[in-house]
Amino acid sequence: MVSKKKFMTTLATSVALASIGFTTVGQVVPQMGAQVQTAQAATSAINDFITNNNITPVSITNEEGTFSYWTPYENGVGKPEGVVIHETATPGASARNEATYFNREWPNMYSYVHAFVDANEILNIKNTDYAVWGAGPTANAKFVQVELCEVSTTYSFARSVANQAYYTASKLVQYNLPFTPGVTVMSHNDVSKKWGETTHTDPVGYFAKWGYSMDQFYDLVGKYYNQLKGNTNSGNTNNGVNNGGGTANSNVITVNNTQGSYVPLVAFQSDGTTKKITNRALANNTPWYTDQTKTYQGLTYRRVATNEWVDQGYVTK
Ligand SMILES: [Zn+2]
Repeated sequence: MVSKKKFMTTLATSVALASIGFTTVGQVVPQMGAQVQTAQAATSAINDFITNNNITPVSITNEEGTFSYWTPYENGVGKPEGVVIHETATPGASARNEATYFNREWPNMYSYVHAFVDANEILNIKNTDYAVWGAGPTANAKFVQVELCEVSTTYSFARSVANQAYYTASKLVQYNLPFTPGVTVMSHNDVSKKWGETTHTDPVGYFAKWGYSMDQFYDLVGKYYNQLKGNTNSGNTNNGVNNGGGTANSNVITVNNTQGSYVPLVAFQSDGTTKKITNRALANNTPWYTDQTKTYQGLTYRRVATNEWVDQGYVTK
């Protein structure tokens, strides 16, 4: 959890406000391949439940929120070092409820995270290329941060942790990070112990209520990580919804601009035209995970973030 200095307003108010001020800018579809088989963790009833009930994660919904700081990580824009796992400690509040609340109250609470996950939705509200305020200054400068919402049934819990594990794995793959439990994926509890800047112990206590542990969660992250990596390496494309009609095409590209000190980006607008992004760019000679290719007016673009595309001319390998 992150600190809440004010109580949440009623859920009815949150729901009523939910449709205001957001624009859905894209979805990232889970790329679950059948070609990669991974061992199941026999020690986790929840993980077994997920497998036996064929529970699969939902798509990531990207809805850029109101957090107005564009702070690079300590290693730079688009260079997180891993993912911090939180839970909200707010029973009954959905990902939508939490997003609405944080989008309104972050200037008063001095808290914000990248994403909220519940049984039905993965709601990403801050571009993960930039840092948020979730777990103290050291961890904030290093990690993507995702909050699990509290639910009340085993089925919902299983679905919600599947979604959180999938989100975590997809961010590791997006940023070309290894999956190293306790290092590239940490609980807020781990963060508190390691750097001592916060006292929170989530999600350990909430997991325990369901007989679940971080080790079991890591097994689930590993399963999705291997599936995503397997799909990426196979060069197969997904056939799901994508942003702006691009062709799904997952791999890692390296970009460089020999004419300048950075590689520019464009966004596709609702009318299909491109617009140069003026406040962000890619550093020269940096690797980027790309999941889509799109052609416009004879130029080919590769997608590197929700609606950030790089001209193929800058791709060196
Ligand atoms: Zn936390």
